[in-house]
Amino acid sequence: MRYSQLFGKTSKTVASDADSINAKLLTQGGFIQKEISGVYNYLPLGLRVLTKIQNIVREEMDKIGGQEILMPAMTQNESWITTGRNNMDVLFHFKGQGDTDLVLNPTHEEVVTPLAQKYLFSYRDLPVAVYQIQNKFRNEARAKSGLLRGREFNMKDLYSFHVDEEDLNRYYEIVKKAYFEIYKRLELDDITVLTFASGGAFSQFSHEFQTINENGEDTIYLCEKCKIAINKEIIDTQKTCPECGGDKLKTVKATEVGNIFKLRTKFSKAFNFYYSDSKGQEKIVEMGCYGFGPSRTMGTIVEIFNDSKGIIWPKSIAPYHVHLVGLDLFDENIKTQAEKIYQDLLDKNIEVLFDDRVDVTAGAKFADADLVGNPIRLVISKRSLENGGIEFKKRNEEKSEILPLDKIFSRI
Ligand code: ATP
Ligand code: MG
Repeated sequence: MRYSQLFGKTSKTVASDADSINAKLLTQGGFIQKEISGVYNYLPLGLRVLTKIQNIVREEMDKIGGQEILMPAMTQNESWITTGRNNMDVLFHFKGQGDTDLVLNPTHEEVVTPLAQKYLFSYRDLPVAVYQIQNKFRNEARAKSGLLRGREFNMKDLYSFHVDEEDLNRYYEIVKKAYFEIYKRLELDDITVLTFASGGAFSQFSHEFQTINENGEDTIYLCEKCKIAINKEIIDTQKTCPECGGDKLKTVKATEVGNIFKLRTKFSKAFNFYYSDSKGQEKIVEMGCYGFGPSRTMGTIVEIFNDSKGIIWPKSIAPYHVHLVGLDLFDENIKTQAEKIYQDLLDKNIEVLFDDRVDVTAGAKFADADLVGNPIRLVISKRSLENGGIEFKKRNEEKSEILPLDKIFSRI
């Protein structure tokens, strides 16, 4: 991609209402643009990052047998009355044709349960797990912190259906492992901990995946031995590490990036969702649900991987792998060489953002490269060519070096 043609530019000024590092850097870098409070546009750079996170999640869900579907953003209020959740504060209600009461879904148990009921009748049809990656709507009391707490935000939600609790427990552990695979690929595994939280109406515990960072909204109590934590909301009932029983818990700030629940029969009961077992007897379906927030995770990553100059993306989700800065491009010879390198990178399927602007200073181009945060910066200029090639620098390192033009591909 040529920077000169990119939709969405970097900006030096900080939006006056940017209340967090991620809101500030993502807006300044040309990744997102606020629409209204808690609702964002994703520009090409931002959408590339979000899509990469979603694809990592998608691959890991597919690996554990999740089947991707897409459910609608809206449904009838009736379904929410059925489960008794129609008065939740976060629900956006509106009227459709014929004065029907509609809802923008903040989560999809009310949609997926009756949907599954249309296809799953017998023990032979179970277990099944379906997921979607889609926008959710919640009228949060305080939308804030950029992508961390939105009113419209992206979620991956997986739902599983089982013949009994034992099978639900089995699958629940499989999902836990898959989540850690995801955090590993996002370079968050070292700082993301399984956290015991209140299971609410569902069970004694649910599990959250909390990414430790000083700007996190949540307080958790971490057992450093087990790397397992307890959420503030249950510390009164659970004062020791659920794994080792230890009572040396450290208080840390964290952001909830995932949340998994054993729903058990709460929703199957509400919708009368039964299957027939091998003896032809009617049995209630057991359910689990597993949420992951790609947009909140994107914001969290920016909160963690940054310096005074901008974002430092993990390789797996950087918008581009290489940021190619062309300088002195008014010189035809340099321009030709820069264009050739750009073309060579494209031919080798290396994702490259080429800053081909002629009327922008070197300083401004370097500042933009640091702000946008792609892992590798290449600079081709009069000076680099005089020194024997092209300057190579990693975003997360200070040192740079000059490489001969034909040597860069082995380093990328
Ligand atoms: P929270 O406790 O932070 O309000 P939640 O427990 O209500 O979140 P879930 O319903 O479990 O969240 O949603 C699953 C995932 O979706 C969360 O782990 C989080 O990553 C993401 N998520 C939830 N609410 C928001 C939001 N308002 N903005 C962005 N992401 C969110
Ligand atoms: Mg939660």
